[in-house]
Amino acid sequence: MTSVPESTDRKLGLVIDLDTCVGCQACVTACKEWNTGGLMAPLTDLDPYGGGVDGVWFNRVHSYEHSTETGGRTVHFPRSCLHCEEPACVTVCPTGASYKRASDGIVLVDEDKCIGCKLCSWACPYGAREFDVDVGVMKKCTLCVDRIYNRNLDEGDRVPACVASCPTGARHFGDLGDPGSPVSRLVAEREGVALMPELGYRPTNRYLPPRAQTKQAASIPAPPLEPVKAEGGFLGWVDRILSR
Ligand code: SF4
Ligand code: SF4
Ligand code: SF4
Repeated sequence: MTSVPESTDRKLGLVIDLDTCVGCQACVTACKEWNTGGLMAPLTDLDPYGGGVDGVWFNRVHSYEHSTETGGRTVHFPRSCLHCEEPACVTVCPTGASYKRASDGIVLVDEDKCIGCKLCSWACPYGAREFDVDVGVMKKCTLCVDRIYNRNLDEGDRVPACVASCPTGARHFGDLGDPGSPVSRLVAEREGVALMPELGYRPTNRYLPPRAQTKQAASIPAPPLEPVKAEGGFLGWVDRILSR
């Protein structure tokens, strides 16, 4: 069994805004592209052009219909590793392949030590582990460690690929162990929540809940159009064309 550090210098993680996520899957695609295109952690796609497409996805987005007494809305829920402070996936690992870094709190897999026993995927209550059957090892979100510390990238690009690609700005990255960081302030302001904290794994990532629905504005009818004279003007010409 593998131990976890008593504390970490930083708690890097994601803050995901469920109010503004539109379920576009751009983060899913960007994650896949970055991790497939990079040399460090190629992912697999099984039978990508056949009927039984399957593969490894570090980040998945699920969509739900949520009904309330006053109406309903669709909520899109991105799911990836939460980089827990008490990660069961690490403590259950028999080889030390799963580990949590003391420097920044990121939970990683050392693929050279992984024997593919899948104990970690059974232990993770969030379904955040992905077994790569082609290589025979377990994989997961790395918070794009090969981006966030990559000095070959512009400083603004040193964020996870999912964060860089989100068109609505629903994804935020930073140090959740620093109460003054922008992500911590955002969580405080929007009353961000941890996912299933009752389980005791102390996830680092936070979700910002959807805002309360506002009453829809009363419908204001548009003024009626003037009658179209068949014989005259552009609208008359359109009317004649459409009437043929
Ligand atoms: Fe481990 Fe799952 Fe927590 Fe990620 S979400 S650190 S895989 S227990
Ligand atoms: Fe550890 Fe690999 Fe087994 Fe997971 S599959 S518990 S990382 S050896
Ligand atoms: Fe939601 Fe942003 Fe991901 Fe699109 S890219 S699914 S808006 S989190």
